[in-house]
Amino acid sequence: MRIGVLALQGAFIEHEHMLRRLGAEAVEVRLPAHLAGLHGLILPGGESTTVGKLAVTYGLLEPLQQLAREGLPMWGTCAGMILLAHESVDGMPGQPLIGGMDITVRRNAFGRQVDSFEAAIDVPVLGPPPFRAIFIRAPLIEAVGDGVSVLACLPDEGGVAAARQGHLLATAFHPELTDDPRFHAYFLTMCQQ
Ligand code: GLN
Repeated sequence: MRIGVLALQGAFIEHEHMLRRLGAEAVEVRLPAHLAGLHGLILPGGESTTVGKLAVTYGLLEPLQQLAREGLPMWGTCAGMILLAHESVDGMPGQPLIGGMDITVRRNAFGRQVDSFEAAIDVPVLGPPPFRAIFIRAPLIEAVGDGVSVLACLPDEGGVAAARQGHLLATAFHPELTDDPRFHAYFLTMCQQ
């Protein structure tokens, strides 16, 4: 299976390593031509404003919006989740988004970089044990539309941290920074459908 990883900025290499470990082909996407023939695409964490601006500069924003509409499986982690959201609050005004997912996200929901943390969260679609979720200046999902399934919440009603809408997957945290391949394996099953 051929999976693209948007490689404009941020934590893309770690996603590639995880995909290869699971036997998938990982392709770095920097230009529209790199989108050809993909079975899925990962939008990594980083700085969503920077990634959005670079996507505009390299002519990627519209092709990405179109692929999201057409049904290409996409998974946004952290900043990538912001890019997939139809609405971001506390974002930069006019921040370019890919959209496609009927979720509202709050950028930097936990404060500044020093407020990064780890939490063990239950993710029923992955089964036990709980997933060690790494949140780095993370966003949170504040509202989900009717077609969106909530996959995981923070403990103590701390908010929605992972969701899926058909072919689109969003996690507020960074599975690629752990040693646990279950989220990547889950995304690969979405790319097979
Ligand atoms: N705070 C970043 C943003 O708003 C996201 C951080 C991350 O991807 N780890 O884009």
